[in-house]
Amino acid sequence: MLYKTGQRTSRLLTGINLKPLEHTLVWLLGLMVASGILSNAETRTDLPATTLYIVLLLMVINLFSISAVIIVALFCMGVLTSMYLYQGGFHSWDWTTQLLHSLAVLAAITFLALRSKQVSDNLRHKEVYMVGAQRLTQTACFGFRADLGRISWSEQAAQILEFPVDARPSVPLLLSRTHPDDLPLLLAGFEKAARHETLIEVKHRLLMPDGRIKHLHLFATPLLTRHGCFEYLGALMDVTASRQAEEALCRAQTQLAHVTRVTSLGELAASIAHEVNQPLAAINSSGEACRNWLSRPQPDLVEARLALERIIASANRASEVTRRIRALARQCDPLRRNESLNDIVSETLGLVRYELAHHKITPQIELAAFGAQVSADRVQLQQVIINLIINACQAMDAIDPNDRVLCIRTWVRDNEAVLEVTDQGPGIASDVLAQLFTPFFTTKENGLGMGLSICRSIIEFHEGRLWATSAAGQGSSFLFALPIRVANDAGYAAAI
Ligand code: ADP
Repeated sequence: MLYKTGQRTSRLLTGINLKPLEHTLVWLLGLMVASGILSNAETRTDLPATTLYIVLLLMVINLFSISAVIIVALFCMGVLTSMYLYQGGFHSWDWTTQLLHSLAVLAAITFLALRSKQVSDNLRHKEVYMVGAQRLTQTACFGFRADLGRISWSEQAAQILEFPVDARPSVPLLLSRTHPDDLPLLLAGFEKAARHETLIEVKHRLLMPDGRIKHLHLFATPLLTRHGCFEYLGALMDVTASRQAEEALCRAQTQLAHVTRVTSLGELAASIAHEVNQPLAAINSSGEACRNWLSRPQPDLVEARLALERIIASANRASEVTRRIRALARQCDPLRRNESLNDIVSETLGLVRYELAHHKITPQIELAAFGAQVSADRVQLQQVIINLIINACQAMDAIDPNDRVLCIRTWVRDNEAVLEVTDQGPGIASDVLAQLFTPFFTTKENGLGMGLSICRSIIEFHEGRLWATSAAGQGSSFLFALPIRVANDAGYAAAI
């Protein structure tokens, strides 16, 4: 393959695609032409010029290099001048003018031939660079005439599309390779070309005969040809490798986020047990009360019914708690919907309430982002909030329990819903502050250092920002801001 590529490149550089047999034929042809011209040379003074013509002819078909032609041209001029001197031509004015004329003609022909050879060599070099660049960057080029529905493409494009290099390019051929689901995308591109749009960009997939999928990125701009027709010139890139890498990265990030979420749930085990225990205890006491009301000589059915309703309500609460925990523990693809930020925060607080009590922390909650809807994956946002709260709780472990206040606030600012988690811990030194969101950065003995980095990627995935502010000795604040969805986007839900 490499050999073939090199061979093709050198052929391009020499300008001719000749096989050994063809090479011999060209030589024979050249010799036949040469002998034909020689046999027509009327006088021996024609010989130098004739020789030069032959050499130029052979140069045009790339059998002689530029330097060889210059040497032959100088040689011919030298021969002409020597003949002139040898034959005493300087005695005749006619001979002298004839010599000068012949030299001038030889020089002009040589100059013009060399110039055109240089231009064609330059063009060939450029073509070689272009072919090489296309191969290296997996980019091919194509031309398209919308009015004629005529398409042409480079050899690299044929390779990307996996057609034989000599296959005649056509729109149906291109469509036959396009993934059926992406056909409308490509057809929309053709329609844009028919409207003479200035930039056409299409990202679509190819479906290969063996079932492989390739991802293409194609863009084209129009050139106005001499006859007032639009011809599009475009580039075609095979972006399969980068798309696969992106998808693998996304999968790895989702898995990592899931692992850290489950880890945080482990840290919240006591809180969760308490959350589930509370309604169970309520069910227990209401059940006993119900039994007492029914065991009376005169059963009090009204009270018994009320006790039963409390049991049902507590059972519902318990199942709601387990539903939320299961949602956090489950690994599923992110699903963004319009959600109220305040609702998400309130639900999360339910999960960490016991954790706060356990750390003897007084919560101060101010949820002022009334009705602010954000496009969010509920579970992922809960994961971020839990992480910030657990960090804040751990940061306050070292201070006096009376000073342990955790402030959680939400508000709306400049079309963004903002959440702030502030603790009264020791604060964060400026050198640590700079590294907080770096993966695996931790100052804790058993820390993993992934929490904040995952929180930031989750918030960025939600098109938001996450940052921290702190002054040593005055606690720290972690804030995130998410864009607010417009009201008429209520039904928006996107699977990503
Ligand atoms: P981990 O908790 O496993 O260390 P994180 O990414 O959640 O990983 O946190 C990284 C580091 O950021 C912590 O080790 C800690 O030094 C610092 N940090 C995070 N939150 C706070 C906070 N509220 N106060 C002080 N330092 C914090």
